[in-house]
Amino acid sequence: MTLPIKLISTDFDGTLFAEFESPPIPRHLQQLIARLQAEGAKWVINTGREMSSLMETLARANISVEPDHLVLVEREIHLHRESQYVGLEEWNAACTRTHAALFAQVQPALPRVISWLNDHFHASIYEDAYSPLCLIAKDNQQMDAIDAYLQAFCQTIPDLTVVRNDVYARFSHRAYNKGSALGEIARRLGIGCGQVFAVGDHLNDLPMLSRRYAAFLAAPANAVAPVKEAVRLGGGYLSSRLHGHGVADAIKYYLEPRVC
Ligand SMILES: [Mg+2]
Repeated sequence: MTLPIKLISTDFDGTLFAEFESPPIPRHLQQLIARLQAEGAKWVINTGREMSSLMETLARANISVEPDHLVLVEREIHLHRESQYVGLEEWNAACTRTHAALFAQVQPALPRVISWLNDHFHASIYEDAYSPLCLIAKDNQQMDAIDAYLQAFCQTIPDLTVVRNDVYARFSHRAYNKGSALGEIARRLGIGCGQVFAVGDHLNDLPMLSRRYAAFLAAPANAVAPVKEAVRLGGGYLSSRLHGHGVADAIKYYLEPRVC
């Protein structure tokens, strides 16, 4: 039988990986992914993490399988080549240039934005290599309010958007996200969206949890409500199991032959 899934895109934190579980990535999920890779499927970890953070965490999790691709910081693409991951230069350079031009437009307004945030909330605010404004709120309720303010600010600058994952948020360009990066990987592999599986648990996963990029959509039981709603609307599978167990459950669901 031909494998219906040719490309597997898994979010990392809360989806593939649960820090407080042992092991944090279920062994049966690792075995399932290994089996699908042996049958020709490709696997991408599609995450908001940076390279060093992801590599350290994968090593500590003692993972036995290796992703074929990485999407990092929700926008950069890296390909597995022998023992390392090499950036997809054409995509990543364009991504960097596009963000530099966008953030140059954001800079003049930043002092005002930061001042407003400081007046209304006690959140951690910083700048990193990927965004001139990054935030960590004290809880999701606080981030809901910050998110609403930042969304309104984004309306003033074309193509500016907020990427939010739990209590974390940063600015990004609308054209670069987990969905567009997944679409680019599929395009390069010659895989149509009808053969792509995508699973995630939080708001930064919404762009890839779309029929535009993946026919097989899924969310683990711990996914936030908007993610479950997007998966449901996309005709996807909502697992009753948590984290990596939910990922394995969803993949198995789609692999089972069904009577139409
Ligand atoms: Mg997540």
